[in-house]
Amino acid sequence: MTDTAANWARSITYTVKEYQRPGTLDALRALVSGSTAVRVLGSGHSFNRIADPGPDGVLLSTAGLPPVIEVDTAARTVRVAGGVRYAELAAAVHARGLALANLASLPHISVAGSVATGTHGSGVGNGPLASAVREVELVVADGSTVTIARDDARFDGAVTSLGALGVVTALTLGLEPAFEVAQQVYGELPLEGIDFGAVAAAGYSVSLFTDWREPGFRQVWVKRRTDRPAVDFPWAAPATAPVHPVPGLPAVNCTEQLGVPGPWHQRLPHFRAEFTPSSGAEIQSEYLLPRAAAVDALRAVDAVRHTIAGPLQTCEVRTVAADPQWLSPAHARDSVALHFTWVRDEKAVHAAVRPLEEALAPFDPRPHWGKVYAIPAAVVRSRYPRLPDFRSLADSLDPDGKFANAFVRELMRN
Ligand SMILES: Cc1cc2nc3c(=O)[nH]c(=O)nc-3n(C[C@H](O)[C@H](O)[C@H](O)COP(=O)(O)OP(=O)(O)OC[C@H]3O[C@@H](n4cnc5c(N)ncnc54)[C@H](O)[C@@H]3O)c2cc1C
Repeated sequence: MTDTAANWARSITYTVKEYQRPGTLDALRALVSGSTAVRVLGSGHSFNRIADPGPDGVLLSTAGLPPVIEVDTAARTVRVAGGVRYAELAAAVHARGLALANLASLPHISVAGSVATGTHGSGVGNGPLASAVREVELVVADGSTVTIARDDARFDGAVTSLGALGVVTALTLGLEPAFEVAQQVYGELPLEGIDFGAVAAAGYSVSLFTDWREPGFRQVWVKRRTDRPAVDFPWAAPATAPVHPVPGLPAVNCTEQLGVPGPWHQRLPHFRAEFTPSSGAEIQSEYLLPRAAAVDALRAVDAVRHTIAGPLQTCEVRTVAADPQWLSPAHARDSVALHFTWVRDEKAVHAAVRPLEEALAPFDPRPHWGKVYAIPAAVVRSRYPRLPDFRSLADSLDPDGKFANAFVRELMRN
């Protein structure tokens, strides 16, 4: 059987020999053990070929597997199937009076696919979504299950694993008591004279948006927990009507703003769970840099803003706390994340990405694993001090490289 599958943005068509969507764990085990090359597809929200198995490989979707969500209120944990999306997970957890510490900008992404690529939200004290993981269950190359928990020396390689170790069938995540968040957007914040540390710490989760057509930021989204002391935001005026991060788009699909308190899962993402995004006419890039370099890096982007503004829909600046995962873009450094949503025009995006990466190069950027970048693999490799440990872990769990596609092989090359 030859089949094709595309990513959510329809910017990538995977080159597959077979597309498979097993409905049971046993069917999945049989497919894995009987195949020579496998990549897993979560919700397909990546923008590069990280999920592409190549022309001889099987693309194995987790969407048909039972959507297990088992909340343990006493232990404050949830065991969730890898293919479940954060929207369903968050609703189930909230119904039991519990919460995840953080969420990404939209809740439609799968849990396993998100933590595999180091997906993150924002917040000076919030690590990537992977930092909630306590245990990971993998179906490995021979079809057997391997469980790796936090007290296992392999754990820091096993969560943000780029899909290179096996199929993540379930994860156990840590929870906390449910909390409320009030979201207020502020307008026009100059870059000149910005106290980035103070702005980023003005809420539990803070995002700055700009289109770089003018200097400075068009919007700052501040998400405050109502159970923590309020912090003033004296640098810009509060918006008086709801806004969308892309200038000119209607705010109807955005989560509630204007400081109205509401449950964590209805405020931490920028977009509502009940809004089902169609194929998005966009491509994304993102780079994580040491947070101490935030202002210098933003000035460097400002210096090339005329070169990048053409295909840019919006740029979002977030913070991510340091993460122990070996392949996390926030590995061992408190980070600032510079995200770019481009129009879906591959040529224009590549023309903009190169000068952008040149401008950011002095700050040792680590690209988001699921987004478009042009930094050579050798340079990316040099920014991951624990890559040799990951290589050994992959060799031990997947000695024949069944789960290593071209993207992973290029990264892992010695
Ligand atoms: C509109 C939009 C908004 C986004 N917002 C954010 C954001 O706020 N923050 C952020 O950091 N990123 C964001 N992203 C990027 C996104 O979170 C990542 O691309 C993430 O990987 C998406 O998860 P997925 O399940 O769709 O992954 P996929 O694209 O399906 O897969 C990504 C990788 O994970 C692997 N994988 C997936 N499932 C499994 C599994 N069960 N077992 C083993 N490996 C698996 C795949 O093989 C592949 O290597 C956004 C993307 C879009 C399109």
